[in-house]
Amino acid sequence: MLETLRRIVGEVGRARDLTMALEAIVRGVREALDVAVCSVYLVPRAKVGDPDAPLMLMATEGLSRKAVGRVSLSPDEGLVGLVAQRAESINLDNAPQHPRYKHIANIGEEPYHAFLGAPILLRGEVLGVLVVQDRESRRFSDDQESFLVTLAAQLASSIVQAELSEAVAHPPSSRKKVVGEAIRGVPGAAGVASGIAVVVYPQADLEAVPDRRCDDPEAELARLKAAREAVRAELAALRQGMAQRLPEEECVLFDAFTMMLGSESLFAGMERRIRAGLWAPAALRDTIREHAAVFEGMDDDYLRQRAEDVRDVGARLLEQLQEVENGVRDYPERTILVGREITVTHLAALPEGRLAGIVSARGSSSSHVALLARALGVPAVMGASELPVERLDRREMVIDGYRGVVHVEPRGTLREELERLVREEAQLSAELATLRDAPAITPDGTRVHLYVNVGLLADMAPANNVGAEGIGLYRTEIPFQVRDNFPGEEEQTRIYREALAAYAPRPAVLRTLDVGGDKPLGYFPINEDNPFLGWRGVRLTLDHPEIFLTQVRAMLRANKGLGNLRILLPMISGVGELEQALELIDQAHVELREDGLNGEAVQVGVMVEVPSAVYQIDALARRVDFLSVGTNDLTQYLLAVDRNNARVAPLYDSLHPAVLRAIHDIVTGGRRAGRPVSVCGELAGDPLGALILLGFGIDSLSMSAGSLPRIKRVIRSVPLKHARLLAWEALACERGDEVRAMLRAALRDYGLGGLIRGDE
Ligand code: PEP
Ligand code: MG
Repeated sequence: MLETLRRIVGEVGRARDLTMALEAIVRGVREALDVAVCSVYLVPRAKVGDPDAPLMLMATEGLSRKAVGRVSLSPDEGLVGLVAQRAESINLDNAPQHPRYKHIANIGEEPYHAFLGAPILLRGEVLGVLVVQDRESRRFSDDQESFLVTLAAQLASSIVQAELSEAVAHPPSSRKKVVGEAIRGVPGAAGVASGIAVVVYPQADLEAVPDRRCDDPEAELARLKAAREAVRAELAALRQGMAQRLPEEECVLFDAFTMMLGSESLFAGMERRIRAGLWAPAALRDTIREHAAVFEGMDDDYLRQRAEDVRDVGARLLEQLQEVENGVRDYPERTILVGREITVTHLAALPEGRLAGIVSARGSSSSHVALLARALGVPAVMGASELPVERLDRREMVIDGYRGVVHVEPRGTLREELERLVREEAQLSAELATLRDAPAITPDGTRVHLYVNVGLLADMAPANNVGAEGIGLYRTEIPFQVRDNFPGEEEQTRIYREALAAYAPRPAVLRTLDVGGDKPLGYFPINEDNPFLGWRGVRLTLDHPEIFLTQVRAMLRANKGLGNLRILLPMISGVGELEQALELIDQAHVELREDGLNGEAVQVGVMVEVPSAVYQIDALARRVDFLSVGTNDLTQYLLAVDRNNARVAPLYDSLHPAVLRAIHDIVTGGRRAGRPVSVCGELAGDPLGALILLGFGIDSLSMSAGSLPRIKRVIRSVPLKHARLLAWEALACERGDEVRAMLRAALRDYGLGGLIRGDE
């Protein structure tokens, strides 16, 4: 059953439009459960979430096909409506006897008695109902019921994706009031921008290849032909190499691959698609899918496995096609990078000044790409999991990073509205730029120091342009991530010196390596079931003192003659770890002095981002010079919500009263010990968060360069006296939503509504 389930889900996931997806479902389920009828009813997309939304019959095997798209039931009608209302499955041996049974004329369900319906739910909302029916009066078995329920649960996301894919492929041509698809994700970086999508995808991943038009089919065919010859030569070489090591019968595998390459039907399929206007990689993708599906549908186990071989040949061809493609990308003036997962390398490939925005199907507002987007000052939408990525290349889009929404080719009044937002956004940026040299002082005279978070050399320049008072967090793992081995002491010294020199004499806080969790090092793989609770941050570097000592020595050497270095320790969970790290820092000093190099004392601080540190704040504060609150991890660990998981993103709330209480306790703990407290997590760059932190009496805030001007504006507008009252009121709230509503209202009263547009 599990295999069948996977097959159906896979087929639905690959469908190019909703009709194909739904047909694959009803066909697959009817066959798998050996029943007479399988049907899918869906709620119109615009009405999902509305308890009165109707359910329309969208596909069926077994009932009258003429009824598809015609029969619609309200939720208080029939058993289908009851499944939707209850949002749970209903299994009946004799449906017509049930009080909620409703006879529908001309649908052809008279002969059927057994009824099993399962809701199709996405994030708690009913998208539709999946129904199977059979003639005789009998209850469906527990196994059948659990199959249908499991399948329905897994289908929701694919259905939405197929729906969106169809909608963006065939945008309505009429100039009706509001058209243009809105695709929901979560806010990644504030701002609204319009531009042209450029889809980026992992190399050699056939499934990730986007659609793209080709203007010159002959050239595409020639490209394909060259790729085919190259793969043929590659396979011949492989076979020859293997012949010495493997018995002949194992080597025939290569012959099978070569035969596949010679298959005329495979290449005829690609040619047809290319002549219809598709570029070679997408023609390859679709043809391979089609051929693999034929093998997958076979009963014979051996033949079914051959689907993998077809995909293998497809991947090899793709790799060859990409050899030619590499380096010849042209990026439009206003590029919006779109992908399932966007990496630092994708960003680096873009010529300067072309990036207008980022849309990623995975990740959330605290993923590193979102942090980078904020550093670069471009809007980003994250976790748009239903994004039909492969359909979006070169499409015009407007992204709203405040709300986390993407509009593909918006028209009519929606377009006008979005254009207005883009204009207002530009105006806001221009206004904020005038504050560059103004200090962050509240109207009643309290100064809050504003620093920037950096990591890439690329964000050093924008950071220096926004009038920051120094670096509040330099994430040293980023230069480690973009290399292919550990940088040595000399190289690290050079990297850190550049950062320190760019800001001297203003302070620069360099954090020791915080790899692990969501920050992997390709050359130092860590495979763990629970990486966020595993070997990350200081835990790893204390187990590898040689890495820690090299890094600290490099930092101290880089500080020579500058004197603005401060060292920050990530992921401290107790006094023992802190003492060990401090001893190693002392050791690095001693070693450098012995070597006649710089060993000048520097300030050391701890990140407070693990809940245990909140409860030991006095003991920790006593041992260091300053505290820096990492609200990204603190929120994740306090609320037990993965900061990168879009599925639980609505639960990830740094304004949750429990998180605010913890921050308040850290600030008061720091004050008791006479140590300054800063916040360097994303909450510091959120206008609502900054308001609360100001009220708690925070000494400094460190954030992405893109956020700094907004936060300065907030601080210069709201008197400390009022911020304190708001902070107390927030601590008395029981839910994050209440805190948010109250702070929103306050910012609006100060005329700062434009800074929090998405929260309206
Ligand atoms: C944090 O956890 O809040 C933080 C600033 O560190 P990072 O996002 O790098 O984990
Ligand atoms: Mg952290």
